[in-house]
Amino acid sequence: MYKDKRFAAIVLAAGTGSRMKSDKPKQYMDLGNREVLYYSLAAFSKSVVDEIILVVGENDIEFCREKFVDEYGFSKISKIVPGGSERYLSVQNGLGAVTEADYVMIHDGARPCITETLITNLMDEVIINDACTLGVPVKDTIKVVDANNVGVSTPDRKTLWQVQTPQCFVYEEIKSAYACMQKELEKYGQADINITDDTMIMERFYNRKSKLIMGDYRNIKITTPEDISVAKIFLEI
Ligand code: C5P
Repeated sequence: MYKDKRFAAIVLAAGTGSRMKSDKPKQYMDLGNREVLYYSLAAFSKSVVDEIILVVGENDIEFCREKFVDEYGFSKISKIVPGGSERYLSVQNGLGAVTEADYVMIHDGARPCITETLITNLMDEVIINDACTLGVPVKDTIKVVDANNVGVSTPDRKTLWQVQTPQCFVYEEIKSAYACMQKELEKYGQADINITDDTMIMERFYNRKSKLIMGDYRNIKITTPEDISVAKIFLEI
């Protein structure tokens, strides 16, 4: 419990990481003699969250139990559940495994540079603001392009943030949002849904806007091979 509230963390690691062009999914790639996923699990284990639900590929459940629960001793991992074919389907499975919580934090297991301090900052903020995500103001000019990569407009940079994870929501609210999404999926099929994070789910299915909390430029998502070298520098390993 933190400030009398129960927090569950869902750590996502069920992606295939096709942009990494590696034979191993990026969450299991080597980063200073540990798996990429190790670092997020270590940060959440050190933090005051009450439980961690780990979402992985169906065939990796046993491996993850042996590695992260038995070998590394991350005893806050209460459940390891299979993910889905899209990120939001993996989140949905993770949410289904939460037994009791006031707030749920959702984190990309591919962001190894997350820290206990950032996690606590987000917990403090969600108690005040109900829906929060870490993010950072963009440094570059951003273009909207057409199908031929011709820039068609340039949004005002002052209004743009890059969104990171963790993201944190009231458990009952995010549960309702996902239930609403499920109805839409059943009606229209998943091809119509183009959702890349949970603040979008909350906007679209619960009409809830999220507060952006200053994250860290080092909280990168491992996506392409050069990200591994950068993460090593940030983690000082
Ligand atoms: O693909 P992307 O980099 O946006 O994935 C972000 C996070 O979501 C990664 O940690 C990845 O393992 C996870 N994910 C998942 N299930 C999917 C797709 C992505 O758990 N189907």
